[in-house]
Amino acid sequence: MQRWPCTVANEMSRVIERCEVLAQISDSTDSISRLYLSPAYREGLLLVEQWMQAAGMSTWVDAVGNQWGRFAAVDPDAPVLIIGSHLDTIPNAGKFDGILGVVCGIEVVARLQAAGSTLPFHIDVVGFGDEEGVRFPISMLGARAVCGQWQPEWLELADAAGVTVREALLTCGLDPSKIGEASRVNDRLLGYWEIHMEQGPVLEQESLPVGIVSAIAGACRSRICFTGDAGHAGTVPMNLRHDALNAAAEFALSVERFAITEGVVGTVGQFSVFPGAVNVIPAKAECSLDLRSIDDDVLARVLSEMQTTSRAASAQRGVTVEWDVYHRAEARHCAPHFVALFEQAVAKHGQPVRVLPSGAGHDAMLMANITDMAMLFVRCKGGISHNPGEFVSANDAEVAVDTVLIALEELAKTHTADTRSTAS
Ligand SMILES: [Zn+2]
Repeated sequence: MQRWPCTVANEMSRVIERCEVLAQISDSTDSISRLYLSPAYREGLLLVEQWMQAAGMSTWVDAVGNQWGRFAAVDPDAPVLIIGSHLDTIPNAGKFDGILGVVCGIEVVARLQAAGSTLPFHIDVVGFGDEEGVRFPISMLGARAVCGQWQPEWLELADAAGVTVREALLTCGLDPSKIGEASRVNDRLLGYWEIHMEQGPVLEQESLPVGIVSAIAGACRSRICFTGDAGHAGTVPMNLRHDALNAAAEFALSVERFAITEGVVGTVGQFSVFPGAVNVIPAKAECSLDLRSIDDDVLARVLSEMQTTSRAASAQRGVTVEWDVYHRAEARHCAPHFVALFEQAVAKHGQPVRVLPSGAGHDAMLMANITDMAMLFVRCKGGISHNPGEFVSANDAEVAVDTVLIALEELAKTHTADTRSTAS
């Protein structure tokens, strides 16, 4: 059931139609699955390459398996604006996560070509590989190579079937020795723009087709182990117990309280109890904690407060607690001049301007290491993603494409003015 007005039928949007067509290319017969460097992933690139060529782009696949297409400026030495997202999927995926941004990028170029427009900068549309990071024990290999962060030892990482990155690249006809050439670090880059489905419920909740991303939240992941004493559930009185689960449970509830008060998001997504018998007081409880915020200082403070709380809840019960903070990623802020440009474009399109953070990681957070970055979110039904039920309406996809076209027009004006003022 659709909860927002849709002025364009799905069958009338080439963007949505292409997302549907790409969804037919899968390694699985009963669901969508295009894991990085799989046969279906490679086949998907060929189709995307055809769409890029039809939109007037010259195309290439870099050595790490990213699909590129260039809509060239007249001046071969002009700087480059990269627009893209990712083409790999999780197993049992939806039709839009990542794909939407690549297809919208191609559509933007197709419209420019149809209008006979030329820009004072190249547009490179990219479909990244391995954003999802579900095949190998690492993620975003495509964007990492483009950012010049590639580490040669990654070639030896193996998937569940024992196939290494090197073998998978070779199977796809790619040359692992040329991955260094995928780096765009030394190129004249104007920026990186990514259109992506929101993967959350905010835009739908506020009846907005698109939203402008302020920043990609930093994240911190921990494993927490509470250790108490096992005992007979019938014979040990309540005041003499060292119940590890109760300490962990109190901690889990404090995560919710702190997160709400501090304006961050915190999730205890894994929880195990040992020995896990109906008549035994829990001796050990292990849980995970995923904390995210666009403010790194707030994140650090909340983490420290949660550690203090976990120790207090444990001490009260004669339980010990150990923390392993095994992953930290800093927040990445979208370039303020691009945020302003997108705000202007959204308003010019006649839509309410809404700026919101991204709680999920994206290729854009890697690209922020080498150039100014911006993201435009597109409303999705029920906030659902990583799920075959993903849905983006034709109307909203069209709003995203139009918004980017308006922003490009404006960027072209300011860029030309800038070049003139530097020349004079
Ligand atoms: Zn994605």
